Amino acid sequence: MVSRMQKLDVSDDKAIRMTIESASGHARNFVPHAASAQACIKASKSDAQMGLSRLEAEARLEAHGPNEISSAQQSNIIQLMARQFSSGLILVLIGAAAVSASVGYIGDAATILAIVLVNAILGGVQEWRAANSLAALKKFLSPRAAVVREGVTQDIDAREIVEGDLIRLKTGDRVPADLRLIHPTGLTIEEAILTGESSATSKQTKPVASNAPLSERTNLAFMGTTVVAGHATGIATSTGMRTELGRIAALTEDLGDTKTPLEIKLQTLGKQLGIAAIAIAIGLTALGVLTGRPWFEMLMTGVSLAVAAVPEGLPAVITITLALGVMTMARKKALLRNLQAAEALGAVDVICTDKTGTLTRNEMLVTDVWLAAGALKVEGNGYAPSGNFIDSNDQPVLPSAREDLQALLHVAMSCNNAEVIEDPDGSWRKVGEATEAALMTLAQKGGLSTRQHLPAVEELPFSSARKRMTVVVENETGKATALVKGAPEVILERTTHVRIGKDIVAIDDDIRAQATQAFTAFANAGKRTLALASRNLDTGMPDDLEDVEQGLTLLGVVGILDAPRIEVAAALADARKAGIKVVMITGDAGETAAAIASQIGLAGTTVVTGPHLDTMTDAELRAAIASDAIFARVAPEHKVRIVEVLQALNQRIAMTGDGVNDAPALKRADVGIAMGIRGTDVARDASDIVLADDNFATIIAAIREGRRQYQNIVKFVCYLLSSNTAEVIAIGLAIIVGGPLIFLPVQILWMNLVTDGPTALALGTEPEDKTVMASPPRPSAEPILTRARLTLVASAAAYMSAATLVVFWLSQTKNPTDLAYAQTMAFTTMILLEKVNVLNFRRFQSDAGLGVTSLNQNRWLAIAIAGTIALQLLAIYAPPLQSALHTVPLNGSDWLIILAAAVPVLAVGQATKLWISSRN
Ligand code: ATP
Repeated sequence: MVSRMQKLDVSDDKAIRMTIESASGHARNFVPHAASAQACIKASKSDAQMGLSRLEAEARLEAHGPNEISSAQQSNIIQLMARQFSSGLILVLIGAAAVSASVGYIGDAATILAIVLVNAILGGVQEWRAANSLAALKKFLSPRAAVVREGVTQDIDAREIVEGDLIRLKTGDRVPADLRLIHPTGLTIEEAILTGESSATSKQTKPVASNAPLSERTNLAFMGTTVVAGHATGIATSTGMRTELGRIAALTEDLGDTKTPLEIKLQTLGKQLGIAAIAIAIGLTALGVLTGRPWFEMLMTGVSLAVAAVPEGLPAVITITLALGVMTMARKKALLRNLQAAEALGAVDVICTDKTGTLTRNEMLVTDVWLAAGALKVEGNGYAPSGNFIDSNDQPVLPSAREDLQALLHVAMSCNNAEVIEDPDGSWRKVGEATEAALMTLAQKGGLSTRQHLPAVEELPFSSARKRMTVVVENETGKATALVKGAPEVILERTTHVRIGKDIVAIDDDIRAQATQAFTAFANAGKRTLALASRNLDTGMPDDLEDVEQGLTLLGVVGILDAPRIEVAAALADARKAGIKVVMITGDAGETAAAIASQIGLAGTTVVTGPHLDTMTDAELRAAIASDAIFARVAPEHKVRIVEVLQALNQRIAMTGDGVNDAPALKRADVGIAMGIRGTDVARDASDIVLADDNFATIIAAIREGRRQYQNIVKFVCYLLSSNTAEVIAIGLAIIVGGPLIFLPVQILWMNLVTDGPTALALGTEPEDKTVMASPPRPSAEPILTRARLTLVASAAAYMSAATLVVFWLSQTKNPTDLAYAQTMAFTTMILLEKVNVLNFRRFQSDAGLGVTSLNQNRWLAIAIAGTIALQLLAIYAPPLQSALHTVPLNGSDWLIILAAAVPVLAVGQATKLWISSRN
């Protein structure tokens, strides 16, 4: 296709489209798994080396649409508003409006309906904002794929893949489309999502019967399945809804559709408060009717009271706050995959972090090479393949003159799946794993060209559990050799010979000791260490492929520099202040781990290695963690054990991971954190959070944000509760003592549904308290309403209800015949009290100031307060609202009384905080 495309007049859009239509028409009767790979490439008009051209890919994307499984349509804003009407209490209100209308109170009925409508609009807009944030986040998290276009491998959004695209797969990838495999190397794919079979299928390239069931189509890779080992290239045969997965339309992973523990907790709290409120409402209504008040007035008061006091909007407000917080975290490069994570993050006690790439920069540079004939230093920077090899006399070495170095470099180049690429600006970057890229650079510094990279006939891939990788290559004469690299002690165990200069001799204890001394010295300097070895397979391949890794000839050892990230030391200090323990768990050598730990200021000097951990009891392991041990040379299953041991102590664990085998530990941890750059799709799918920059400091930033959100949720829950309690007490007391109603039903609705909800939501955007990272993680059993918080709620509510009642009675005494005046005074006093009282809930600490001067730090709250007061002015001075809410205009002295009643609530709040802190 590429060559044909080039011959076409590419500016002629129509010509391109016709070509594609005939291509897809052709493909319709084509059965990819029954045809050869070549035939598939031809049928899809692609090219096995170059892939598609950019223009061709764009045209196909336009013709066939994006490569995605369409999920249920997103709710639109109208639907979200409509949903607000489905709540029970709103239906009761609509019923109340109908009753009002039927007994002739048309005005009240209209007001109730208007308030319900305003409430639905506000609720709908907020939910819509939250849904949009989550949708934007999904875009961030959308999978990516390595695609060859115009001969260059590119990392693209998987939704842009088109039929005919040449795709590269590697271990840990989620297959991005249905592919016909061209070059699978040791490729094994887990296809349970499609076939239900939990054991992974080994893939190959020969055609299979056209009627073979999915599980036997071993030359295809299906969208949504995961590569558990090996790598491959393949050609996309179907995308989007035309894939097997699309056909069964399974994959729907909806962000935010499960309730978080906090939401559940608050729902329960909301229910309990709701039942109490309804009981009180019924009681007061009954009392009112029994003491001779008109039944209709009491019915409406009861309904309004119930609506006022039932905090049924609470879980929605929490979801909105968490969802908006998710966006804040995304800006800080922590992408949350579910809402639970936001909440869990704020409560983390222990972070188990890997080292490479998270605490260090993952920019690897081979600085040392040990050969049995002598050690060499390597000069250079980054991945640029230029720099000298320097011997122990500080003299440059001519690499081509050193056969032993050439043999080592040959392994470095061919036992390697990475590339280093020069960008147009002259800088060099890696494609693939950093360790392998560093070895590729090393080989090129030694004069090897990428043309000397021998293709693997067989491959035993690297895994953190095996800690080694082997390829079998053949030279032009068909002679096979195994090339091996891996952790030095793992390679030494399998070594029988060593290369010294030009000779290969049996290895003795002395050479083993020298090699060990060399790699230990590299590790003590914080470097990553690898040994390189080979085995001549002249006598033929062993029956079991793994046996090629025995009887090896050691060629040398390398030391790789990977400097700590600059920002990590400060982040660790923050974690310490916040009472969060950080445990390093690494696949690297103990000495390397200890050296890096001391460079970044991580406590702990004892190192526990994976094999040692296996011999420990749970109690010993707990003691080791308590004494700040570092875990090195661990395998992924050790991570699961560490999580379990800590969870048994009721600790909440965040665990990082990147490989396929890390998935169980990521799932098991309270917060699984996958790496966005280094991580595999499998690790990402198993995690709660993806770090866009792989950086440890981002975890701490996300925890800080998680804590802020939790604090703010607590703040608005307490605030709402104090407002509602104050209203219920004031109305209730007035009924009990037999006085007139202090607020009319429409006024209660106005107060709660129109003015107080937005104020509470604005509290959710409070900036963080100074103490946010200065106090230990909250205890897991801590309720939202602690005794101290309840005390503040109660004292504020007591004052607000008392002050409102006093204003009401004063007004009645002043104007005994004008009930509307007294009610307007009480109504306005309560609204103003609530606006002043919100300042009490900005901070719970007594030394944090009154929350007035710092109002500029929370723009939304300032807007909510000013907006509410402006609305209240309209409510009492604008004639249409006057008649809707039954208010009368107030004069200057009335306002003085209201202010005199409202402002002291700040003093009450402050005095309570001082009293609470004096008791602690
Ligand atoms: P961390 O857990 O801190 O991120 P890590 O994941 O980088 O560490 P591993 O990738 O498990 O640790 O590597 C463990 C050891 O395996 C390394 O110290 C190195 O000796 C060896 N190793 C790493 N990458 C490769 C590779 N591509 N091929 C062969 N051996 C490797």
